[in-house]
Amino acid sequence: MAVPKSKITRSRRGQRRSHDALVATNPNECGNCGELKRPHHVCPECGHYADREVISMVDDIDLDDDAA
Ligand SMILES: [Zn+2]
Repeated sequence: MAVPKSKITRSRRGQRRSHDALVATNPNECGNCGELKRPHHVCPECGHYADREVISMVDDIDLDDDAA
């Protein structure tokens, strides 16, 4: 097992961690419904991507009791 040769100071540790912060995503508006969505991803609200429907969104699915 690799063993550190000497203690990492609070300063050194902080310098390393200065690049660890997470950055918030930059949302885009959906061209179809106007909702905010992740860039280069299918809109979760309407299922459109690049001005065409790629996932059909059904409002509610009617399941019979004996269907399952
Ligand atoms: Zn949309």
